[in-house]
Amino acid sequence: AEHASTEPSVFTRILRGEIPGEVLLSTEDVFVLRDINPQAPIHLLVIPKTQAYPDVVALAADDPKLLAHMVEVARLAAAQQGATDFRLIFNTGAGAGQTVFHVHAHVLASTAYDLGEG
Ligand code: 5GP
Repeated sequence: AEHASTEPSVFTRILRGEIPGEVLLSTEDVFVLRDINPQAPIHLLVIPKTQAYPDVVALAADDPKLLAHMVEVARLAAAQQGATDFRLIFNTGAGAGQTVFHVHAHVLASTAYDLGEG
């Protein structure tokens, strides 16, 4: 597993306003971005404001309440986009395609329209 970097991650830099990125939702401990390279009609990222945890394994071991909060914020953010059902994905390790070692949950969903319910 990778170690948390002391260099600010791309997500930390967006949170600080150093690089562009629209924050869709923010709580005391997490924030939500739209993925820059969407893999579904709705593709959000739920990100802890701390970059102390490189991946979900490290996060779950040290702060399970923060992990549970990420899941609740994922539900809320998906609902704001009109999706009650969604996929929650944590790429874990470079071999699984993880590229940003600041833990984040991918929230993937279709819209009601895509499902033929619109
Ligand atoms: P992972 O590390 O889980 O494989 O993926 C990182 C995700 O972050 C990718 O889906 C990528 O598109 C997204 N991403 C990388 N850089 C940026 C950025 O500057 N802004 C936003 N909104 N998403 C980004």
